[in-house]
Amino acid sequence: MRESFLHYLWRTRRFDLRELQTTLQQPIQILYPGEYNTDSGPDFFNARINIDGTLWAGNVEMHIMSSEWMAHNHQHDPAYGSVILHVVFQEDLPVFRPDGSRIPCLTLKGRIPETLLGTYEQLESSSSWIPCEAAFSTAPEIIKQQWLDRLLIERLEEKTKWISHTLQQCGNHWEEAFYQSLARCFGLKINTEPFEALSRCLPLRILARHRHQAHQVEALVFGQAGLLEPNFKDEWPALLQREYRHLGHKYGLAPLKSEQWKFFRLRPSGFPTVRLAQFAAYLVQSEHALAKVLEAGSLYEMKQIFQVTPSEYWQNHYQFDIVSAPLSKSLNTAFIDILLVNGVAPFLFHYGKQKGLDRPQQQAFALLENLKVEKNKVIDGWKSLGCQPSNAYQSQALIQLKTRYCNARRCLECAIGNAILK
Ligand code: SF4
Repeated sequence: MRESFLHYLWRTRRFDLRELQTTLQQPIQILYPGEYNTDSGPDFFNARINIDGTLWAGNVEMHIMSSEWMAHNHQHDPAYGSVILHVVFQEDLPVFRPDGSRIPCLTLKGRIPETLLGTYEQLESSSSWIPCEAAFSTAPEIIKQQWLDRLLIERLEEKTKWISHTLQQCGNHWEEAFYQSLARCFGLKINTEPFEALSRCLPLRILARHRHQAHQVEALVFGQAGLLEPNFKDEWPALLQREYRHLGHKYGLAPLKSEQWKFFRLRPSGFPTVRLAQFAAYLVQSEHALAKVLEAGSLYEMKQIFQVTPSEYWQNHYQFDIVSAPLSKSLNTAFIDILLVNGVAPFLFHYGKQKGLDRPQQQAFALLENLKVEKNKVIDGWKSLGCQPSNAYQSQALIQLKTRYCNARRCLECAIGNAILK
């Protein structure tokens, strides 16, 4: 049993409340269990409890065994001086405040309903893909839906932490932050960091001066990426190299190290060189990109912003100087969907929140509702449990549930877990 289970029991008062008494047989009446504290200090603040006819207001601390009070050194910590009740599963030692007075103790052993304890223990010991796998289908659909709605917001808020930080770094320049946000997405999981670093060392104001010359934008992108260093056989990279030498010198640019880019385990179509060529093509036509996204009235219009094709050289190359079979390197629908889910929707959500505007937030939700379910192992897992998300809104919420709750066994904080534990 984990201490969080005692917190859960106390919060929900799901234990036998009849004839409560301390281990010294003083009667207890819980008037208010207190506010749950997930930071340091006692577990519940400002509880109101009548103990032996005296009304006490203060904090409640919980442990599985009462001796943990000493193990955690609370007897010397003034933060625990105003604890009015020690709630434990079992008392193995009497416990005293820093001033030497004994703290009334309530034990929950024998007061927890058997079925509740049994279900909790099953969740704790389960080795299934998700701990509640056997009972998942029994949770009411309405609870699942409401919980997924909340998780989607939680996921968007998590993603916007990075945006908020970036905005601060670039002096609240929304277009710059949007550009950096999308750059990260172009890197997918493997090359997120170098793409982010690239966007930080290649500001929009420089790119803006060269948008009318697509090859110069491509030279700036590949040059700053540190990929224009070698001697090339092909004329195209040699041209980019000459352009970058000139522009890099003009703007005093320092390139990244080429080793930062990871090719390992990627299909050629996902090589960073291909992504950089696509990113460069996007940058050529992305003037006022955020404004365009905010104006877009439909998913189709939104997708159009990202319909780009890299320069001709990339039609039969995945890397410089190596000819490949001709294949379109245009941004495909699946990749555009990834950009919209991971880059655009969180940004719209944050923009609306910061500006106090409803429309961008509604755009973010509509975008996710209209985009297809992602294909990945987490979603496959949910599908195998009979959970069939119908759009990216639901699949994003399910990813949040699996990665942030199920994997961490946070069933007691999960609405589905609470429904199952009933
Ligand atoms: S966190 Fe929720 S959905 Fe996940 S296993 Fe626990 S109860 Fe089930």
